Amino acid sequence: MSDGQAVFCTPLRVEARALRAGMSAPAADRVRHTGVGRARSLRAAQSAGLAHAPAVAAVGIAGALGADLQPGDIVVADAVHDVDGATSPQRCPGAPLLAASFRAAGLRVHVGTLVSTGHVVTGAERARLAATGALAVDMESAWLLPADQRPSAAVRVVADTAGEPLLRPATLARVRQALAVLPRLAPTLEAWARALGPRTALLAGPRSFCAGVDRAIDIVELALRQRGAPVYVRKQIVHNVHVVRDLEARGAIFVDEVDDVPEGATAVFSAHGVSPAVREAAADRQLQAIDATCPLVTKVHTEVRRFTDRGDTVIFIGHAGHEETEGTMGERPGNTVLVEDATDAATVTVPDPSQVSYLVQTTLSADEVEGIVDVLQTRFPALRAPASDDICYATTNRQHALRAVAADADVVLVIGSGNSSNSKRLVETAQRMGKPAHLVDDVGDVELDWFTGVDTVGITAGASAPTTLVDEIVGSLRGLGPVDVQERSVTTESVHFTLPKEVRQT
Ligand code: SF4
Repeated sequence: MSDGQAVFCTPLRVEARALRAGMSAPAADRVRHTGVGRARSLRAAQSAGLAHAPAVAAVGIAGALGADLQPGDIVVADAVHDVDGATSPQRCPGAPLLAASFRAAGLRVHVGTLVSTGHVVTGAERARLAATGALAVDMESAWLLPADQRPSAAVRVVADTAGEPLLRPATLARVRQALAVLPRLAPTLEAWARALGPRTALLAGPRSFCAGVDRAIDIVELALRQRGAPVYVRKQIVHNVHVVRDLEARGAIFVDEVDDVPEGATAVFSAHGVSPAVREAAADRQLQAIDATCPLVTKVHTEVRRFTDRGDTVIFIGHAGHEETEGTMGERPGNTVLVEDATDAATVTVPDPSQVSYLVQTTLSADEVEGIVDVLQTRFPALRAPASDDICYATTNRQHALRAVAADADVVLVIGSGNSSNSKRLVETAQRMGKPAHLVDDVGDVELDWFTGVDTVGITAGASAPTTLVDEIVGSLRGLGPVDVQERSVTTESVHFTLPKEVRQT
């Protein structure tokens, strides 16, 4: 499927005119005035133009059912059904992608069910429809959209609400207000049309949660269950906004420092680890501390202590400001020095070049670290390495899997939050392979334009990103055309860490 084939249906001539006003000439040519009501919509749907169109979008104004909808708001339907249930509900899985694009354009957007009726609804009928949870009502979409698997979309601008129904003096002004929004829908609808087409989704395996993240989340959940809310967590338990929001909803309170925790309360240390100074501050406040530091981060802490105890200065290869860097270097602040990149490595100084070793943040990219270590070894021939790699198994596996996927992908999506180190390294890994790659927290960050002319989308998720987000994005891609989902698995993971005694159940 290519651009030039999606058809945009508008019931009113004035809606068609308004939509065309925002469109390029080729797209404007595909706007059809299909008429008001069920009979005209059915006739239009059976016409050659629509019956053979590879994709159909129903666009126009509508009445709001949801109480928080205002005139001028956009409703993007994820499901459309007719009020009598005579036709099966149509699903529009691409709704989250369209909604994200409209939001990025500054529009107020709601995603939900659209109901089509054969007549104008008012009063008790309107209230009854609102009670079903539907967001808006129109008189056409259910009969215009294809009932088969072809991509479809229904996008409506709210003109009237329950409080300001049709046939009131202000109706004309509200309809004009809604019509004025229609041209602003055009760029997104055109991007949707350009993005349509069958494609392959290549999923990297492994992806998503690692054993350290699983353990950290389990610790907070168990603490909440065993001790009741609130449970305080110092810093984000793992670097993912969805995980944090979910735990907050269950009673976790995230704080920046232990000073923000009431004396004697339960405080969980995040998976990234803490310095001894933080542990001491927690003890001073008589906090009931539970340590969710990943055991593989703890291993690096142990190495810092061992290496500095033998007289070494430790060069820590990591990122400034990251909690793991602060926690690890905080073990021996006077005997550690941070190197972020090869430029730092070329200038770093140590008191005794014959007594120097290096350690690495667990979530860095192996390629990047190799180059930095090369520079350090040239400058410090006595440089000692850790006994085994500090970059953890999960980081390494996800980078290998990403490479396998990116090799065959036209674009790569990495699901993860902006402060997730391992997720950012995955983006950089794909970009180093010359692939366009994007870090997205969820489908709300995905842009339709990324898929124009794209046959294969590589998808992975950082070690702190829930796997449900992958399903959500793949599901929304199905709204652009058939998706063949393939998994590229480079290894299987069976690592499991035991829980700390404070939450272990006997
Ligand atoms: Fe532990 Fe590695 Fe997961 Fe970080 S990414 S929590 S170090 S397993």
